[in-house]
Amino acid sequence: MDAQLGYIGIEVSDIEAWRRFATEMLGLSVALPRPDGALPLRMDDHDHRFLLHEGPADDVAYVGWEVVGTAALTAAKDRLARAGIVARAATDAEIEARGVQEMIHFDDPNGIRTEIFHGPALGLRAFRSAKITSGFKTGARGMGHVLVNARDVVKTERFYRDVLGFRLSDYVDTELMGTPVHAVFLHVNPRHHSLAFAGLQFPKRLHHVMFETNSLDDVGAAFYRAQDMGVPMALGLGRHQNDRMVSFYGITPSGFWFEIGWGAREVDDETWEVKTYNAVSDWGHRPASHG
Ligand code: FE
Repeated sequence: MDAQLGYIGIEVSDIEAWRRFATEMLGLSVALPRPDGALPLRMDDHDHRFLLHEGPADDVAYVGWEVVGTAALTAAKDRLARAGIVARAATDAEIEARGVQEMIHFDDPNGIRTEIFHGPALGLRAFRSAKITSGFKTGARGMGHVLVNARDVVKTERFYRDVLGFRLSDYVDTELMGTPVHAVFLHVNPRHHSLAFAGLQFPKRLHHVMFETNSLDDVGAAFYRAQDMGVPMALGLGRHQNDRMVSFYGITPSGFWFEIGWGAREVDDETWEVKTYNAVSDWGHRPASHG
């Protein structure tokens, strides 16, 4: 299916730490709370790309995939039904909380609440990041990508490709700290991947969220801003082999990681060839010593 990563909901134990991290480190802005009390974070013209809910999990609560129009939403619902999965229609309260026109939801193979919607709410004012001068690369390519720690990678791949119609970008088969890792990268628009997953030695369902900037300078500046702010680093600057993104990774106040990057190549389905890479990066992305 054609879609975009519309928003993600996160349960966070320290809202104030997140408010500071989101605004001062990531350069997002905080909007007025949604009707259910969730704190929305903006990164473009959408009313929210993140919704923060206070709670102990410090992990992803739900992922929202945006499609264009009611026909596309019905098509997604039909695909799920043919696979024996009942997607429930959102209640009026859920529609209001997310600020969307129409929404269905179901649990994915990792037990993550997954929402498909159309008609997002847009922010009152034009967005300008106070920190990311060039702006975030979003629009129809969505807010970025998420990498999920999958319980069963094969089942997860079958579900997203065969049931929902996400398209394969590539695989990375490598070794991380002595453990073999098989990572799957899927796209739903020209962004190289909107969803990736692997079975990881990681204590959370959400491994990281990626933000793409419109200039390399914003990645470099963010890298040093993180150090100045004492934000824990995970992986230093490097370039990925598969999407060729130049990025670095730090650790959010909830313990999962964030990636800020620039310069990823895009997928043209007409000419794309699926490959398996044996390394994560061409250079860099060296683990930082922290903790
Ligand atoms: Fe990533």
